Amino acid sequence: MNPLTGETFAQVLVNWQKQHGRQTLPWQHTGDAYKVWLSEVMLQQTQVRTVLAYYARFLQAYPTVSDLAAAPEQDVMQLWAGLGYYTRARNLHACAKQVVARFGGQFPRTVAELESLPGIGQSTAGAIASLAYGVQAPILDGNVKRVFCRYYGIEGYPEQTAIKKSLWDIAEANVPKEQPGVYNQALMDLGATCCMPRNPACSACPVMHTCVALRKGTVGLWPTPKPKKARPELHFISLLLEDARGALLLEPQTEKGVWQGLWAMPFKACSSQADLADLSRIATAWIEQFGLQALSTEIEQQLAGLPDQPWLVHELTHRKMHFKVLLVKVPGVWPGCHAVGDKPVPKIVHKLLDQVRVLAQGSVPQQNTLDLG
Ligand code: SF4
Repeated sequence: MNPLTGETFAQVLVNWQKQHGRQTLPWQHTGDAYKVWLSEVMLQQTQVRTVLAYYARFLQAYPTVSDLAAAPEQDVMQLWAGLGYYTRARNLHACAKQVVARFGGQFPRTVAELESLPGIGQSTAGAIASLAYGVQAPILDGNVKRVFCRYYGIEGYPEQTAIKKSLWDIAEANVPKEQPGVYNQALMDLGATCCMPRNPACSACPVMHTCVALRKGTVGLWPTPKPKKARPELHFISLLLEDARGALLLEPQTEKGVWQGLWAMPFKACSSQADLADLSRIATAWIEQFGLQALSTEIEQQLAGLPDQPWLVHELTHRKMHFKVLLVKVPGVWPGCHAVGDKPVPKIVHKLLDQVRVLAQGSVPQQNTLDLG
């Protein structure tokens, strides 16, 4: 409700749409459900500017839904080529066939019947019903979600079930009995011309006096972006086996993953709580595998200090890796050792090597993790 005029949100928008909204888009003011549906499907993931040319070509090729239904799918796909998201084109064709087969070539009028057709969700059904038939049906596409989140001050990612439900409740409560099509068009126009994702034109917005986000100064923060997934934290024990030349034991990484195709030191996943017994089991396997029996006393001494060694932390975009390092120096030239510069190695190899050398010089830090940057 506008405190200055006493008008409802819907009344303000309807009046604004008539004066300032978009009036010349070719699918407006037609009352033709086929044209409204075609434009709505094309606009689902594509900008108006791009849609205009495709829309005109489609209507020229298929002036009615029956023409579209009768066309070979290959021709429809060909005409759609370049618009992307080709599932839309397949659904478009399937929908046209069903409109002909189930509804005699006339798009149904109710949201429930419209939603039963391929590629038509609740918001598209609401748009067709309200814009073509004047049915009091709400819409809630991405633009409208943004407007509602800001105007009503809804925090939380709009695709979360509870938030989405609140937004649908708002959409249903607001859609007026009179001129629902003009109101829904106003919402779309507001999202496209005032309440844009970036740099919204709030000073030109018809509901600026009652907008929660504008009052709170949080326009740029809403809608709440998609929450980032927590990065998994992975823990490893690694073997830095260095021979007399300073060459390092490196193994080709053949398994699918971030290091596939590179070479890296032997490493094994372990628990963040790994104790001496756990680490010893892994080290024993390495002693066997790499023929290090003659060095087992030295390795056991190293192992004893490992539980107290800080985790060396390596951060990647999608994961955070923590390493404990078993540094073993072997005499002479050792099989499987390569100069680090001779092989493609991930950055972590250099970092671990540098850091372990620092630690080996006795400057063990107090904290129990060490960020490798
Ligand atoms: S005042 Fe700004 S943020 Fe609020 S609804 Fe209008 S354009 Fe969107």
